[in-house]
Amino acid sequence: MRKLLIAGNWKMYKDRGEAIALAEGILECSSVGDSIDIAVFPPAVFIKEVADILRGSGVAVGAQNMHAEEEGAFTGEISSKMVLTTGGIMVILGHSERRNVFGEPNDFIRSKVKKAMTDNLMPVLCIGEKLEEREANRTEAVLNEQLDGSLRGISVKDADSIVLAYEPVWAIGTGVNATPEQAQGAHAFIRSWLRERYGDIADKLRILYGGSVKPANAEVLLLQPDVDGALIGGASLKAESFCEIISIAKTITNEAKW
Ligand code: PEP
Repeated sequence: MRKLLIAGNWKMYKDRGEAIALAEGILECSSVGDSIDIAVFPPAVFIKEVADILRGSGVAVGAQNMHAEEEGAFTGEISSKMVLTTGGIMVILGHSERRNVFGEPNDFIRSKVKKAMTDNLMPVLCIGEKLEEREANRTEAVLNEQLDGSLRGISVKDADSIVLAYEPVWAIGTGVNATPEQAQGAHAFIRSWLRERYGDIADKLRILYGGSVKPANAEVLLLQPDVDGALIGGASLKAESFCEIISIAKTITNEAKW
């Protein structure tokens, strides 16, 4: 079945020394051959350093964003080649902070997804509704819009390298997580959308849940049949809590889940 993926999004936190210390802490609680996959997304300036520390540990390193162009006059941006040549193998795209704080539209995100796939950088495509959209019963409509807008034109052949992350905007950084039922409902909807678009590949694609995941709620969320891992912000900033979630994920068996 699908291997759980526990991913940490460090956002714009940590200076160099702190990033090194966090990577070293994560190194201690992970090992090659773990029953789950682990990834961290440090600030871009620390990707190389973190990747060097984690090399050989089985922990993947990625970027929190990138531009869709190969290169060019895009001050402040980074390219897929820059990520790849500093040791990153994954990239978060369409995070709600990129969509809502920096105003990134779906078609811009789609061009990044395409570029990442072309360059063999594994995209983690984030989608999720705002509180007012959930309250207006528009969750599925919003997810549909974001999925269609961000994946249009991505072929079945390419789709199998993508990871999805359902991150309800109201749950990110608020301490209020989606209930296991809300998460499972949204994930099941996303999987049925993927099945309609891509057929059986939908059963292989991982859909992570993100939004105030912490050691206290990780197990019940990860036990949901369509929740294939977690994208974690706040609780990934301390090795102790991130490692605790990793240990919880390692105890979840296929029998318990399915
Ligand atoms: C995130 O940054 O993607 C996230 C889910 O943050 P938090 O875990 O802090 O809610």
